[in-house]
Parts: sequence; structure tokens; C-alpha cells
Amino acid sequence: MIDLRSDTVTRPTPAMLEAMMQAAVGDDVYGEDPTVSALEEKTARLFGMEAGLFCPSGTMTNQIAIKAFTQPGDEVICDRLSHIYNYEGGGIAFNSSASVRLLHGDRGRFTAVDVQENINDDNIHYPRTTLVALENTVNKGGGCYYQPGQIEQIYQVCKANGIALHLDGARIFNALAETGEDPATYGRHFTSISVCLSKGLGTPVGSVLVGSYALIQKSKRLRKVFGGGWRQAGYLAAAGIYALDHHVQRLKEDHRRAKILGKMLLDQPFVTGVLPVETNIVIFSLPSAETTQRVLDHWRSRNILAAAFGKNSIRLVTHLGFDNAQMDQFADVLKKMKVPAPDAS
Ligand SMILES: *Cc1c(COP(=O)(O)O)cnc(C)c1O
Repeated sequence: MIDLRSDTVTRPTPAMLEAMMQAAVGDDVYGEDPTVSALEEKTARLFGMEAGLFCPSGTMTNQIAIKAFTQPGDEVICDRLSHIYNYEGGGIAFNSSASVRLLHGDRGRFTAVDVQENINDDNIHYPRTTLVALENTVNKGGGCYYQPGQIEQIYQVCKANGIALHLDGARIFNALAETGEDPATYGRHFTSISVCLSKGLGTPVGSVLVGSYALIQKSKRLRKVFGGGWRQAGYLAAAGIYALDHHVQRLKEDHRRAKILGKMLLDQPFVTGVLPVETNIVIFSLPSAETTQRVLDHWRSRNILAAAFGKNSIRLVTHLGFDNAQMDQFADVLKKMKVPAPDAS
């Protein structure tokens, strides 16, 4: 199977599994798992933050941050394409009883001016704006990323207004691989960052929330309330440490393959458009929901899995399980599809 539905589908490599097997573990709810502590410290250091908290999912790290920075009725500024708004089960309302101000950015990326214009004045009629959350890269934006400097401007606006700035960094290493920014310098512009280990980095489970000591103390309590306090999680943390050491440098390969996929798709008669491919995500549109289903079915019959993304779009995500041989196989399937187009109607 060539599975391009998501970069979450990867299995641990033999070397990663070996690192997991060797992990020293303890009860992390008692703060006694040395490998979890090492991962948290390593991730925090990497992004120039004071402390970290290892959690079972990126949804949990995002939701903990939202809960930590808001009171019921407060407002969170985020883009309408953001994961926290679209794909976390309404968690902003469910967990934090917070209100949302949706920005209409450029493929999910907004500017400092957008933020400035959407901060509510201090007036009893309005919700208090207490948090800005941005995503980098933007999943629903086709894996696009912010240019260096843009985020610093957003940070300055947040700082001037006493508002926290959270980064949903499910694919932060994909963004940094392209801009070449140093994570420690980059991290300075955020109050908190959710760093995902189970997407492009290829671990089985987990994200680390990084921020100040005070934030992480508070977050530890929230993680417990959310049911995310875990015990011998060091086996999973070991995979994270391994991934930070060995799987960050290779992300550009995923980007290179995604760009080639994007180019190949542009030539297909059933493709009406491809979002610019900037990192490891390729989103393309098709003329109808029916064509979309036909293409997915045809690919499935040829052992290729892709994800429907809305009615008329398909998303492909490259990852460490997708190699050159699979790429050739995919190219071959595409070539044979050209004539006739799968849906002439
Ligand atoms: C996958 C993803 C998350 C959530 O990660 P889970 O570990 O699946 O909960 C958050 N944000 C973005 C942009 C994602 O793609």
C-alpha cells in the first residue's frame, strides 16, 4: 500500500523501535519517568522555552493552551482554516467556553494588521481578546508557511495588547526546514508552542507543549483533567527523542517528493487545480464530487490511498514511509490513467 492520506500513517522505523525498547521508564504522573522528562526538556530547549509537557495528541496540547490562556467568554483569534477551529470537535467551546474570531487569511496565514483590527476594545459589550493562535505550516492551506518576519510582527501586536500567542506546530519542522530559521530564535515569538512528533517526524504518538514554567505547571493540571496524565510514557518519549535527533533533517526530502507529485497532478485531465506545493502537502481540486470518488476508488484499486478533502478536493501528504520506489509506482499509475480520463461526464 502507498498510503498518502496523512503523515500520521507512518510506523516506527527499526531504529526508532530499538530506541523505544531501550527506554528507562517510571510513573510520569509522579514525575518519575526520566525519558519523558528528557524529551520535555529537549523540546523546550530546542525552541528556547523554559519547560515542556508531553501529551498524547496535538489536539490535547492545543486545547490545554487554549484553556490555559482563556476564561469562559474570552475570545480566541484564529484563521477560519485552522485545525483548532475545524478539526478539534468544537473543543474551544467544549473545553474552554471561549468565543472565536475567525480571520480570512491567505490560505490560513494572517497578518499583524489582521490581528490588530480584530482585537476587541475594552468594553463590557465585547468578549475579551486573550489569545491569538496561528498554525504553521497550515494544513488546510496546502502546507503553506509563514515567511520569516511575519510572525514577529504578529507577536509585537500581541505583546503590545497583553495577548498570548500560541502556535499549533503540528508541522513546525516542515516550515523551519524551508525558511531555515533557528527554532530557538523562532520560539521567542510565542507564548506557547504545540510541537507534534507523530506527523512528519514519524513517532507513533505524541506532542509536546512548550512555554514558561508557570504555563507548564498549570498545563500539567489541565492535562490531568483532560485525562492525559500517563504512566510509563517513556517508551513513547524515546521515540520522540529519536525523531528529534534523526528525522528532522530528512523533511526536505518529503517536500521534494510532494513538489514532484504536484507537478505530475497538474498534467492530469481530471485535475482542475493544485494548491502551490510548499512543504509535504498536496491539495488538488477535481471537477465534481463524483470524479473525486472515482479517482479515490481507482487509486485504491491500485494500492494507493489518498484522502478526500472536502467534496471536490483530494489531499496527499508525503512522509518517511513514502520513498522513491513508491513514487515511481504512483507515477506509473498516473500515466496509465491519462487516457481515458476516469470521468468523461
Ligand atoms: C494533526 C494536527 C493536529 C492534531 O494532532 P493530533 O495528534 O492528531 O491530535 C493539530 N493541528 C494540525 C494542524 C494538525 O494537522
